Amino acid sequence: MEYRISKRVASLTPSLTLSIDAKAKQMKADGVDVIGFGAGEPDFDTPQHIKDAAAKALADGFTKYTPASGTPQLRQAIADKFKRENGLDYTPAQIIVSCGGKHSCYNVITATCQADDEVIIPAPYWLSYPEMVKLAGATPVILETSDVTAFKVTPSQVRAAITPRTRLFILNSPSNPTGTVYTPSEIRALADVCIEKGVLIMSDEIYEKLLYDGATHQSVASFGPVYKDHTVIVHGFAKAWSMTGWRLGFLAAPLPIAKAIDALQSHSTSNPTSFAQVGAVAALQGPQDHLPLWLAEFDKRRQYACERLNAIPGMSCCVAKGAFYLFPNISGSGMKSTLFCDQLLEQAKVAAVPGIAFGADDYIRLSYATSMRNIEEGVNRIERFMRESAA
Ligand SMILES: *Cc1c(COP(=O)(O)O)cnc(C)c1O
Repeated sequence: MEYRISKRVASLTPSLTLSIDAKAKQMKADGVDVIGFGAGEPDFDTPQHIKDAAAKALADGFTKYTPASGTPQLRQAIADKFKRENGLDYTPAQIIVSCGGKHSCYNVITATCQADDEVIIPAPYWLSYPEMVKLAGATPVILETSDVTAFKVTPSQVRAAITPRTRLFILNSPSNPTGTVYTPSEIRALADVCIEKGVLIMSDEIYEKLLYDGATHQSVASFGPVYKDHTVIVHGFAKAWSMTGWRLGFLAAPLPIAKAIDALQSHSTSNPTSFAQVGAVAALQGPQDHLPLWLAEFDKRRQYACERLNAIPGMSCCVAKGAFYLFPNISGSGMKSTLFCDQLLEQAKVAAVPGIAFGADDYIRLSYATSMRNIEEGVNRIERFMRESAA
């Protein structure tokens, strides 16, 4: 039997962040002393009250189908969150709960993009965006940025990239992989171009709360009704509540888009896990006192790692103001990112993700969602590796 894989799926590249992480974990299991900077998830446990709420729901028998787009309680709690924290009025019908923020992105792109459409994606980008666009049959249009401008795309770049076929502009602030945070006025200026040209914005705000150095987040939808009408917000529980394995994300959209996604989800995954949704209500409505503790810890690691990396000859690193990633420039090593990361893992036993996965081959991504001890040892190893490869 000759198996034919569909063109759309055959063209996919498996997620490099997930595979590097798996390789490092395997080496560790084999007894190799690896320092892993590959993690795309917080190294803290889900807060106890969230686990308790889900465990109780499970014990109480809340184990059946829920409405495809989420329980009324959770969709209301999410609408309340947008009102309370972002000043945004959404009805529960405009909120869709999905199986992770990644699934929310997939739903938005699938529901709004088709063949002959173009989707503008600033690079470095979260690696799944272009693949999802290709799966929808549409074409990713990548806008290059560099560390010289802190990886920020400009309104004139976006304007120049828009054609009559442009359907969607993808914004991700704070950013994975760079940690870049756009200021509110920068976000507004980008949105103004999209509104003028009638382009929808998908704003991935999953790192909304992970901010340092006094940086602020303002949702693109919150600048006024016309901004809200041009925006779908994507969000999730994975990062700020450390719930990556729960697979719970959500989105807020103009009603026609929310209805389309409701139909799509009703025929694909149906509802996200019933008792996990009860945990998510507790995440939104319960105490948030874990967050300042996590942020203080992340911030300490961020400052330390950034300073150390910038002191290494041949390496430079933007001071990222959000998320939990650093994206140092490795062009001084004379290597491109895949070779650099292969050698770094082989020789120095440090796992990092090659920037090429995010559309930026002169950089690597280091996650500081790991202990300070690992960061100290890992940076020592990177320093030695750079010295030895220069020699
Ligand atoms: C982690 C992440 C998500 C969502 O992750 P899920 O685990 O699917 O909730 C979405 N966007 C970005 C940029 C991320 O880094």
